[in-house]
Amino acid sequence: MMGKRKNMSFKKEVGDSSSSDKAFPVKIGLEVHGYLDSREKLFCMCRTDFLESEANSRICPICTGTPGSKPMAVNLEAVRKMVQIAIVFGSKINLETTWQRKHYDWADLPKGYQTTMSGAHAKVNAVGGKFRGINITELHLEEDPAQWNPDSGRINYNRSGLPLIEIVTEPEFSDSEQVVEWLKGLLLSLSYIKAVRKNAGIKVDVNVSTYGERVEMKNLNSLEKIRKAIDYEVVRQVEAYDAGKTQPRETMAYDESKGITVKMRSKEGAADYRFVPDPDLPVMKIDEKMVKEIRAGMPEMPEVKLERLLKKYEVGEKDAKILTRNLELVDFFERLAGNGINAKKNISWITIELIRVLNYNKKSLEDADVEILPEHLAELIEAVEAGDITVLKGKQIMNDFVPRSFSLREHKGEIGNIDEAAVENLCRQVISENAHVVEEYRAGKVASLNFLIGGVMRLSERRADFKVAGDCLKRLIG
Ligand SMILES: [Zn+2]
Repeated sequence: MMGKRKNMSFKKEVGDSSSSDKAFPVKIGLEVHGYLDSREKLFCMCRTDFLESEANSRICPICTGTPGSKPMAVNLEAVRKMVQIAIVFGSKINLETTWQRKHYDWADLPKGYQTTMSGAHAKVNAVGGKFRGINITELHLEEDPAQWNPDSGRINYNRSGLPLIEIVTEPEFSDSEQVVEWLKGLLLSLSYIKAVRKNAGIKVDVNVSTYGERVEMKNLNSLEKIRKAIDYEVVRQVEAYDAGKTQPRETMAYDESKGITVKMRSKEGAADYRFVPDPDLPVMKIDEKMVKEIRAGMPEMPEVKLERLLKKYEVGEKDAKILTRNLELVDFFERLAGNGINAKKNISWITIELIRVLNYNKKSLEDADVEILPEHLAELIEAVEAGDITVLKGKQIMNDFVPRSFSLREHKGEIGNIDEAAVENLCRQVISENAHVVEEYRAGKVASLNFLIGGVMRLSERRADFKVAGDCLKRLIG
């Protein structure tokens, strides 16, 4: 047993379920913190667009903890998002809960306590449930502290008071791969219900136990960091055990630059936070009618969409997975199919072309300034199928679909290809205006031809066919 375990730790494959040593005791649990996608903060009306805003431009006496300020009634939008998440997990929602003050002294928390639905005496917002095979312990709301830079001493209160959801799992994961896949699935599902702010990221506390007490690693903010920290920590614990050390319960930080975990402090007991019910806030009551109404309005989850893509639309699994990675994309596909287009046959217009132009412009379908309509792509596909425009031309038109698509019918005159005689005239003009580039091409610089074709495309306002223009230029240059 000892020999085998030692061997495994050296291979750094501990927790690998394919290993023959099933008895290896790796238990991993998560506390996932996400920013709820809400317009206002939890107890004041300050806006939550902290990423896009200048430091300390989203603040008021409440979220800066000014003495004498009192919290406003809880932000109902944040409460509704929490209920949605609880419904996704099938958790039991506690309809009456009391806000707690979690005391600690730190520069990021001027009022000296964080307002939370967790703690020694608290009833959390929801308990139980399951997500992708892992049992959920509980979930609760809390406010985010401010952002403190220990080097400069500056504090940015934009984040202070933002509504956070904390999701706690049972310690049922057995390796880092399983954790990362689960978190990806969680983020995808939460994006379908638009529950968490996409760009704000997540913070995850990961606890790992092997032969001793559990070790908590705080504030891991990327999947890559989570993977590395778990892999390192499991091996570290096993090697310590083999060396005869006993693992106490403690809190660690993962030092990414060194790739190691370092001790932060012995785990504080709940009593250290001096939890007390917040006397400034009333008992939070959730109406059963509201829960029912939210449940009825829940959007489909990724698994349901995936199933329909595979069964109803008979899309290949690879394409189906690309589409379901993004709610807007899969909706776009279904709306395209609803426009009388054989969406399965034309799927590459979405999975390749649409994604290409969006990525090129660093945009996504959910951006407020992007409006691309499936009916416009449907017209374009029909025009290609009817032979009115070439596939190449269709792709060029799509380049102009970001940020706003347009109807081909309305732009028919401009979009139809111009004839070869007209292309030839433009080619002659480009050749005469770019004598040095023509010389370069003659001297063997093949890429110069693209420059000349580009000139023809510009002059024709992209109505020339790319291939016709290239052939014509080659012929004229000789
Ligand atoms: Zn505020």
